[in-house]
This record gives sequence, C-alpha cells and structure tokens, in this order.
Amino acid sequence: MPTGKPAGVRCAQLTSDNACAIFGRPERPEVCVRLRPNPTMCGNSRGHALGYLADLEQLTRAAKECIDDFRSW
Ligand code: SF4
Repeated sequence: MPTGKPAGVRCAQLTSDNACAIFGRPERPEVCVRLRPNPTMCGNSRGHALGYLADLEQLTRAAKECIDDFRSW
C-alpha cells in the first residue's frame, strides 16, 4: 500500500488465512518489522488483539491528521 494503510482497512498484503504475504521481504513496511507482540497487545483472544490494533489505528490516525493539518498551514 504505497501511501500507507488507512485506519480500518484490511492490509492488501494479508492473505485469506491471515498471514503476511511479504513477511521477511524488504518491501515489508518498517512499522511491521519493528512491531513486537506483547501480552498487553495480544491478550487472551483474537478479539482482544483486533480491538487493541483498532485502537492503535485510531490513535495514529488522529496523529496523522494533526500532522497533515500542520503541514497545510
Ligand atoms: S505485517 Fe504489515 S504488511 Fe504484512 S499483512 Fe500485516 S500489516 Fe500488512
């Protein structure tokens, strides 16, 4: 996704069995390479992990909108 993955949109690299199609390849985004799972993020269920990721997406979406606003001044 050359301009980044919008919040709430399934990654284009995610396969039908929820694996990363570009895992281990140089074109994999740096944020994906650096992200380290931890108990707080993963919790005890897929639902918890998806909720945590949705929260992160919303938080970073807000930050990106602030940066875009700042750049347009
Ligand atoms: S690791 Fe990154 S590139 Fe791969 S499927 Fe997940 S979000 Fe997409």
